[in-house]
Amino acid sequence: MSANLQTPIDYLKGVGPNRADLLRSELGIQTYQDLINLFPNRYLDRTKYHKINDLQRNNSEVQIIGKITSFKEVAQKRGKRLVGTFQDETGRMELVWFRGQKWIRDSIKLNTPYVIYGKTNWFKGIFSMPHPDIELLSSHEKGLRSSMQAIYPSTEKLSNKGITNRVMSKIMQNLFLETKGNFAETLTDNLITELKLLSKSKALFNIHFPKNQELLSRAEFRLKFEELFYIQLQLILKNLIQKSKIKGLPFKIVGDYFNSFYTSYLPFDLTNAQKRVLKEIRQDLGSNAQMNRLLQGDVGSGKTIVAFMSMLMALDNGFQACLMAPTEILSVQHYNGLLEWSKKLNIRISILTGSSTTLERRKIHESLENGELQILIGTHALLEDSVKFKNLGLAIIDEQHRFGVAQRAKLWKKNTSPPHILVMTATPIPRTLAMSVYGDLDISTIDELPPGRQTVKTVHRYDSNRLKVLRFMKDEIEKGRQVYIVYPLIQESESLDYKDLMDGYESIVRAFPQPKFQVSIVHGKMKPADKDYEMQRFVKGETQLMVATTVIEVGVNVPNASVMIIESAERFGLAQLHQLRGRVGRGADQSYCILMTSYKLSQDSKTRIETMVKTSDGFEIAEVDLKLRGPGDIMGTQQSGILNLKIANIVKDKHILKSARFYAKKLLDNDPSLGFPENRVVLKTYRELSKYKNIWNYIS
Ligand code: ADP
Ligand code: MG
Repeated sequence: MSANLQTPIDYLKGVGPNRADLLRSELGIQTYQDLINLFPNRYLDRTKYHKINDLQRNNSEVQIIGKITSFKEVAQKRGKRLVGTFQDETGRMELVWFRGQKWIRDSIKLNTPYVIYGKTNWFKGIFSMPHPDIELLSSHEKGLRSSMQAIYPSTEKLSNKGITNRVMSKIMQNLFLETKGNFAETLTDNLITELKLLSKSKALFNIHFPKNQELLSRAEFRLKFEELFYIQLQLILKNLIQKSKIKGLPFKIVGDYFNSFYTSYLPFDLTNAQKRVLKEIRQDLGSNAQMNRLLQGDVGSGKTIVAFMSMLMALDNGFQACLMAPTEILSVQHYNGLLEWSKKLNIRISILTGSSTTLERRKIHESLENGELQILIGTHALLEDSVKFKNLGLAIIDEQHRFGVAQRAKLWKKNTSPPHILVMTATPIPRTLAMSVYGDLDISTIDELPPGRQTVKTVHRYDSNRLKVLRFMKDEIEKGRQVYIVYPLIQESESLDYKDLMDGYESIVRAFPQPKFQVSIVHGKMKPADKDYEMQRFVKGETQLMVATTVIEVGVNVPNASVMIIESAERFGLAQLHQLRGRVGRGADQSYCILMTSYKLSQDSKTRIETMVKTSDGFEIAEVDLKLRGPGDIMGTQQSGILNLKIANIVKDKHILKSARFYAKKLLDNDPSLGFPENRVVLKTYRELSKYKNIWNYIS
């Protein structure tokens, strides 16, 4: 029988009420269970011994064999400290005790070999070690020492109150003694056999007291796998439950709209990726469940036509569809594109934005409610209460990062039964992150660009090369091309940034004088109408240069623009740089992206710039971004719960995550209700974990 792990930590030998309070407040450890799951941060190799004359001044932990030759007491502000002179054959150092001095003096034998262990300080020409871990060499050699010493997470308060790593180790040992190291298994026999996993008890023992490196690695693998396995199980179950609970609108047929567009009006051959994604969407829409799908595809990968053809599936089944975009410019662009295709099929389509007139609105509201209007494109304006559909079947959201989950939910309420939802994003989310965080969304990926697309030549130039860059811009403009020049805009230093932008604008106007050249400028402080006007001038080719802050990051399509200059590129994040670069390379001409920086670059900035120069694959870039910034930063705080992992790390343990997901899925495919006898242990563990707030609080 295994011990009750819900026992409060106070009852463990060596803890007591004071330490229990500290463990609770500092590390959130309430029960035996919490303690056993306090995994070490790292391990120290205790097979290594240092010599005193090799010590480095980096304040690290060392283990030394030597003798104490004398003690002295030194008075200090409050009380006194005990200082022992410790030496080996290479040198001399000091051991210092502020507490327990009598005990030390009574028990330590002078001139006898000891092994000491701890952190060293360097002060006034001599190394010292406060409160060393000390043991007679003779018993050290006899003792069954784990070669790796676990180092536990700690806080300043804990170490000040004497709960050192040594004490933690001791407490952990007591826990293993009391429980006899017997812990209930939490994975199935099948998994353990198939993956050759350590048993739970053996893994826990070796994570705290590793016998050797191999067992430690296996213990880590087993515990990481388990942690990720149960998260995946939870996510997949949630998805299954949602699907069975929420009845979708069945799109029974593929009808005339879709078929005639496909056979007669397709403007180009679809890429294989587009076809595959359409099939995935079709499968969802044809099933009885409500679709909740994320469509990700790099800038220019051709998401729009997939969106349109999905809408045709809705229309074929007598439903309406809508497409929501984050800005007016983007909405208009979508509208113009889809209008052209819709005309051929006699589909009634309209656009609703903040600048729609009352009259336009009235017409739209009316025709939406009586079902005449089939497709509505627009901005947030679509979410207004006055916008009511007769029978909305499919809602598509472009560039989802600009919309929150709340807005997704609002779209749902546009109908008595929720419409199918397709969320499109051009910011690729690394696969590992997506599968950990978006368990409730299915994901389709367009991972192939349309044929003949040229990659954008990307180079890094220092500010001192500016003249050459200007000459290059002039040459391209002479050839009839257009150029973007983008400045960073970062909240904290907003006014400074605007000064940079305006200075930049002026120097561009000087270098490209009117009337031969025309320069547009767009930034966040302009009125929307003015922004639009400037943007339109550039779109129409009336201006050759566009000086802007990142407002152009999203969406605009100007195929004739072939040069993207990014100023102070070191100040942009990778995702932003990639998005900006995506603004060029949309036409037939070779396009260029020039990343301008000063000479002073941080290591991270260097990595970002090098990554941009090296690759144009959005997924590769997203992976680097994930490594640099960590998942919390990328996903925003709402989802950063994924950071609460106790032992696994979704960046470093990608392969374990994949395998955990695979096996969780396999298990649920066979036994969706976890009713099989051999899966009883999974059901039990799953239920316990769901009750156990600390781990699961991020799964709402
Ligand atoms: P995004 O995924 O960035 O929204 P778009 O849907 O705007 O990309 O497509 C980018 C450009 O590529 C458009 O001009 C579009 O017409 C074109 N395009 C999309 N799919 C294909 C294809 N299969 N073959 C050729 N051109 C395509
Ligand atoms: Mg798009």
